[in-house]
Amino acid sequence: MGYYPPVAETAHFDVLVIGSGASGLAAAVSAERAGARVALATKGALQSCNSAKAQGGIQAAFGGDDSPELHAADVWKSSHETADMQLVGILTSEAPDTIHWLEENGVEFTKENGGYRLARCGGASRKRLLQVGDQTGLAITKALRETLEASSAQTFPKSPLTSLEEIENGWRARCGDHVIEAGAVVLAAGGRCYREAKERGEFSTNHPGATGETTRFALELGAEARDLDALQYHPNGGAWPENMQGYSIPETTRAYGAVLLNADGEEFTDSLGPRDQVSRAIFDEVEKGKGVETPDGRPAVLLDTTRIPERDAEISLPYMLHRYRSASIDPLGEPILTYPVLHYQNGGLRIDERGETTVEGLFACGEIAGGTHGRNRMMGNSLLECCVFGRRAGRAAAERAAA
Ligand SMILES: Cc1cc2nc3c(=O)[nH]c(=O)nc-3n(C[C@H](O)[C@H](O)[C@H](O)COP(=O)(O)OP(=O)(O)OC[C@H]3O[C@@H](n4cnc5c(N)ncnc54)[C@H](O)[C@@H]3O)c2cc1C
Repeated sequence: MGYYPPVAETAHFDVLVIGSGASGLAAAVSAERAGARVALATKGALQSCNSAKAQGGIQAAFGGDDSPELHAADVWKSSHETADMQLVGILTSEAPDTIHWLEENGVEFTKENGGYRLARCGGASRKRLLQVGDQTGLAITKALRETLEASSAQTFPKSPLTSLEEIENGWRARCGDHVIEAGAVVLAAGGRCYREAKERGEFSTNHPGATGETTRFALELGAEARDLDALQYHPNGGAWPENMQGYSIPETTRAYGAVLLNADGEEFTDSLGPRDQVSRAIFDEVEKGKGVETPDGRPAVLLDTTRIPERDAEISLPYMLHRYRSASIDPLGEPILTYPVLHYQNGGLRIDERGETTVEGLFACGEIAGGTHGRNRMMGNSLLECCVFGRRAGRAAAERAAA
């Protein structure tokens, strides 16, 4: 008698979503509302994802002087004219409606003077960043998870996708101990910066599930990708104290007045430039010998957070203040040490406007997909992309499964 692993029973659904970040949750909620029987399988706990760590906010053109066209123009410029403008047009024109959809699902954005509290983020020509304090991603994922859990969708936590094959009329997936067959699959498994940083011996802002194997499965199935080599450094990783290394200091610090300074106290770059330019400027400044050193001998520059008005910090940066003050550093009383940290996979699987990859019946949304940001993403457009294209991919996958 040998040992035979148990043969898992096959579960049948219309739509299988892989991943429980903002994009997977938006896709699953939307597919279920479109009438599909939905399964959502994810690697760890349902709460475990990059989306929940997103602090700064989400972009949408609500300002009186703003428009989806200006938003799109900023994306084009920040991407160095590499973004897919058909996807960008959808992203920016559906942004306001998507914010209202999130509100209907329970997200309460920070308001002031009868409107949304808007900040200007790096590369933006207008104030356009909506926030929920500095825990926007947590608020969005919590609301969408609660909506999903109250629906007919079935969730499979701790069930990583380990194989995916095409069968007649759909797909067969192995997710942990489960075998799931579905008419359409939505890949929403995020990026790979956690693994990439480990391999480079660097810090990353990402959660440990961001390892990228799902992209590899899709490529093996024949899906096309773009800009996969374009990884983004967040300009402001925490450099000191040790427990803040790998923490992404919200870009809203700079939106509310913080500036980058070298060892001589000089501003050496436009602190609200596109992310890749700001990160490059910090690397260059350190290379020129004008950086500072952390107590454990790492390179850094100064982020002068003392310039942030106290009221703005209390409304829009309470979590950041709490984290630093718990480590006996008051960012409103002294500058903090910062250095770029590996943060985001700009490229990914090619998708069309419905979120379908180049393989029929295989959809993708969120960080695993490419095109919307070209080779350099603007802050606040990732959560937006997750929700705009998650909704689209969920609806289209439900339609595909019903066809
Ligand atoms: C610290 C931090 C701050 C950020 N701040 C902002 C911000 O302010 N604004 C903004 O717009 N963006 C921000 N971002 C970027 C943004 O949060 C993410 O890019 C986006 O939320 C990604 O969402 P997602 O759904 O595509 O992936 P994720 O949220 O990463 O979710 C991926 C899911 O897939 C699961 N998974 C992975 N592999 C498998 C597998 N093999 N099988 C099953 N499941 C799998 C994971 O466990 C996870 O549940 C930030 C990111 C970080 C890390």
